[in-house]
Amino acid sequence: MQPKVVLKPGRDKSVRNRHPWIFSGAIQSTSGFEDGSCANIYTVDEELLGVGYFNLKCSLAGRILGFGGIDARDAITASFDRALKFRLGIFTDSTNAYRIVNGEGDDIPGLVVDKYGDIVVIQIGTLGMEKLKPYVIDLIKRRLSPRAIYEKSNLPSRREEGLSNQEGFLIGDKINEVDISETNIRFTVRLQDSQKTGFFLDQREMRALLSRFSAGRKVLNCFSYTGGFSVCAAMFGAAKVDSVDSSEEAIALAKNNFSLNGLSTEANGFFVADVFDFLRERKERYDLIILDPPAFAKKKVHIKGACRGYNDINRLALERLNSDGLLLTCSCSYYIDEKLFQQIVFNAALEAKRRVQIIQKHRLALDHPQSIFHPEGSYLKSFLLYVT
Ligand code: SAH
Repeated sequence: MQPKVVLKPGRDKSVRNRHPWIFSGAIQSTSGFEDGSCANIYTVDEELLGVGYFNLKCSLAGRILGFGGIDARDAITASFDRALKFRLGIFTDSTNAYRIVNGEGDDIPGLVVDKYGDIVVIQIGTLGMEKLKPYVIDLIKRRLSPRAIYEKSNLPSRREEGLSNQEGFLIGDKINEVDISETNIRFTVRLQDSQKTGFFLDQREMRALLSRFSAGRKVLNCFSYTGGFSVCAAMFGAAKVDSVDSSEEAIALAKNNFSLNGLSTEANGFFVADVFDFLRERKERYDLIILDPPAFAKKKVHIKGACRGYNDINRLALERLNSDGLLLTCSCSYYIDEKLFQQIVFNAALEAKRRVQIIQKHRLALDHPQSIFHPEGSYLKSFLLYVT
């Protein structure tokens, strides 16, 4: 018997609005069912609304894969092909690393698929998607013929779903490092022990934006990780770039990425340090500062402390900027929305007593679409500020 989920009367509105999430409170009954199964979704009047997968242990119990009468696997294939078509249309040969599937943003909840050259990294966040993994792997193999597929499923949502983390090669050559190129700038991406799926693809457009503002400037890249912004600033003609990260390994990789592009690791600075301490203790001034920290608010209860953290680093960075300077400041905390982030930067500007103008606002890179029906898919915001 095909598993079936029936929604409570009046709880079909969000589905009709094409929102992909179904909370446990909206479910009236289930049949033919085990956690992680795909099921057809019905109203009490037996109208078929769509198909999704469900895990009744979670309050976010269901995620929709397709609307109307469609098979779950066919829906995934159609969404994958749409997602791939869009990427192939926007990325040229100069960029061979991009996100092919952005979860709910591409109508495949619980799945991220990133391409790093001929290596594919997947990330699975839910039990339902875990059960669909063999199908997804087969689809990736058929569509992309990758040299290897690496799984990096370590999202916090897995614990709630009753899943442990999974990391390692699923098929192909076991190569832990892969070279990618982005507008002809090269990076080595490490798969194991890395942030995200290996590289911050979501900041691609902001790295490119540095081409307009780096020439001749003294640059400080805070929370540099493997030097994505640093290498770009240096390649775009910065006078000097200092990179700061608390991870020794990240800084070693950043140096490696400088060398890979023929840039000097002597003429530029590399600091294994806490950014808060670095900004407080070092009184050096810069012409361009980049603040792209990890999410300070990973949960709702963290919002207050996160505001203080963002306020501090933004104030300190503004104090370290020369006049005619630029600050690229970012937050990837979902719980700090753009309005609140702007308020934080406003406070920091007042405290630092600097004149601050917003030159540009940006969200996610082109390969990280957000579904209009799923506003929760937005997390990153970046402001480029002109400071005098
Ligand atoms: N801006 C980077 C991504 C940042 S990821 C890029 O574009 O690639 C966040 C980084 O912040 C991680 O590398 C982590 O090691 C570092 N980090 C976290 N807390 C820190 C702190 N207090 N001081 C310095 N680095 C920190």
